[in-house]
Amino acid sequence: NTEDLYCIGCGAKIQSDDPKEPGYTPVSAIEKGLETEELYCQRCFRLRHYNEVSDVSLTDDDFLALLNQIGSADALIVNVIDIFDFNGSLIPGIHRFVGNNPVLMVGNKEDLLPRSLKRSKLKDWVRQRANAEGIHPVDVVLTSATKRHALDELLSAIEKYRKGRDVYVVGVTNVGKSTLINQIIKQSTGMQDLITTSRFPGTTLDKIEIPLDDGKNLIDTPGIIHKNQMAHYLSAKELRLATPQKEIRPKVYQLAAGQTLFFGGLARFDLIKAPQERNGIVVYLDNNLQIHRTKLIKADEFFARHQGGLLQPPTSDEMETFPALERFEFKVREKSDIVFEGLGWVTVKGGSVVAGYAPSGVGVIIRKAMI
Ligand code: GDP
Repeated sequence: NTEDLYCIGCGAKIQSDDPKEPGYTPVSAIEKGLETEELYCQRCFRLRHYNEVSDVSLTDDDFLALLNQIGSADALIVNVIDIFDFNGSLIPGIHRFVGNNPVLMVGNKEDLLPRSLKRSKLKDWVRQRANAEGIHPVDVVLTSATKRHALDELLSAIEKYRKGRDVYVVGVTNVGKSTLINQIIKQSTGMQDLITTSRFPGTTLDKIEIPLDDGKNLIDTPGIIHKNQMAHYLSAKELRLATPQKEIRPKVYQLAAGQTLFFGGLARFDLIKAPQERNGIVVYLDNNLQIHRTKLIKADEFFARHQGGLLQPPTSDEMETFPALERFEFKVREKSDIVFEGLGWVTVKGGSVVAGYAPSGVGVIIRKAMI
């Protein structure tokens, strides 16, 4: 019975049901913790022993409380997004809660985008997309947490814009926020032994505070769940197969109207109407994802026959639980990306009519071409 147990690190109520929720502690660790009278939740335990921050996600109520906290703080807001999944990275309503606080946008996973794409252009693109959402970042930094790109640039930007204030690091789950924070901790020497955990007064929220030189803190907030992210619909294994791990090499297909591309058994693209006889379509997806071309009129039948076989992932074992593909149709007026959120995108010219299909729950959207 874990009813009245609390983590001595962060104060969260101890539970062993959901590893993604605050206070999660495996049963064996609870027993050990009680014996030694040092009961830490898994998150705090890892933080203490490995300087490692792990994910905890928020419920809607906690989320609102978090927004209110940040809204009333006088701080620099560092919003980490996944540059590869901009839409899936947006925090609903962020422009309302930041108030007058400056926002520094960090476009993480920069390593996934082709090197040929100019970084200055990419920054402009991030800024424009942010503006369209009502966010006006004071600056944009592109990082790769895993490759340790631009960490110094990020730290100096934080120093420059925080002007002696606290720093709140916010982001939806899976953008790489934990990885980035861990790298920041490693990078800023002297901080390693100073990490403390505490919580927002008056709420059930956990936060991690990393002390800065001047007595202020860099505050890591729990990841916010964005329901349309692909990560919530695929198994960990499927996700590994579908999400790019390395720099994407764009692939060009010359398609005629009435042709279909299958991206493994995960997604599909139909060129329904097209301005020319041959149309250059550029595909930005994981390099290892197999692409198959068929005639549109045969595509349904082809898919029914081959998903789980020729068209993988999903594998035949995974088919049973794999969501059905949902169809979205678009009239393309100017050069645009058809984005399969979290998977990648396909760039098409204006004057086309196209359809994109993705596992139910994963969005397919159109945006002005990134490249
Ligand atoms: P969080 O939920 O935002 O804290 O995200 P995590 O730090 O747990 O990272 C989510 C996934 O993204 C993990 O599989 C990471 O390995 C991966 N990831 C994080 N940062 C990067 C990055 O800069 N580039 C790439 N390619 N993957 C990253």
